[in-house]
Amino acid sequence: AELELSKSGWLLDITKLKLGENIGEGEFGAVYEGEYLGQQVAVKTIKCDVTAQAFLQETTVMTKLQHKNLVRLLGVMLHKGLHIVTELMTKGNLVNFLRTRGRSVVNSAQLLHFALDVCEGMEYLESKKLIHRDLAARNVLVSDDSVAKVSDFGLTKVVSKAKSDNAKLPVKWTAPEALKKEKFSTKSDSLKEVKEMVEGGYRMEAPEDCPPALYSLMRLCWEQEPRRRPAFNKLREKLEREAGKHSGG
Ligand code: ADP
Repeated sequence: AELELSKSGWLLDITKLKLGENIGEGEFGAVYEGEYLGQQVAVKTIKCDVTAQAFLQETTVMTKLQHKNLVRLLGVMLHKGLHIVTELMTKGNLVNFLRTRGRSVVNSAQLLHFALDVCEGMEYLESKKLIHRDLAARNVLVSDDSVAKVSDFGLTKVVSKAKSDNAKLPVKWTAPEALKKEKFSTKSDSLKEVKEMVEGGYRMEAPEDCPPALYSLMRLCWEQEPRRRPAFNKLREKLEREAGKHSGG
């Protein structure tokens, strides 16, 4: 795999990296900010050799993707394990952003903007016949100029291959039919409850101050029947229409 990478040009020169502060904890190791050839970067370290193999898979997916709403891979480094180098998203993950900024920053226009950003990134993935399988606000990062970008392609699969291997899917963010195929599970009772409630038709109510048109869109995305849910390209059109209305257009 190492040889493949160096031939492909995605292997970076570790001597050109200036490592900075720790900015986050991933499942498999710390994330640092840094500088590579004058560019601000994030460096994700993967401690364990076994998982490094799995991350090469994530990296392979990422090398083929380029879009303004997907976190951009710059390359990898092999030094006491695998290091994944991406563009630095200075405002961190979207969950933290939403929780820590006040309503004056996180206003309805900004929320709609984030929704559109994510949707456009996903529309691009959809056009490549890729499914992300772990889309959630914790896997969306915010850039310095407040653009939201989808990250964490670790579970991404080409559509035709995405049948089995559902053991670690995020229950609350996964469509009911995708959860159903699971053969056995050691998931907690509360997750089981969520699963049963969603299958039984339960849906969350509208957030405070949410425009009814937007809530209708959410409900559309939560339709029990998959083919009734909008594809990302359709969803983007609908979100753009809403954004147009709110900016007075
Ligand atoms: P894992 O998928 O292994 O859990 P993440 O990729 O989600 O790890 O990274 C963990 C945290 O590190 C993120 O929630 C985010 O706060 C921070 N982080 C990751 N990548 C970047 C990046 N490119 N720019 C800025 N912060 C990042």
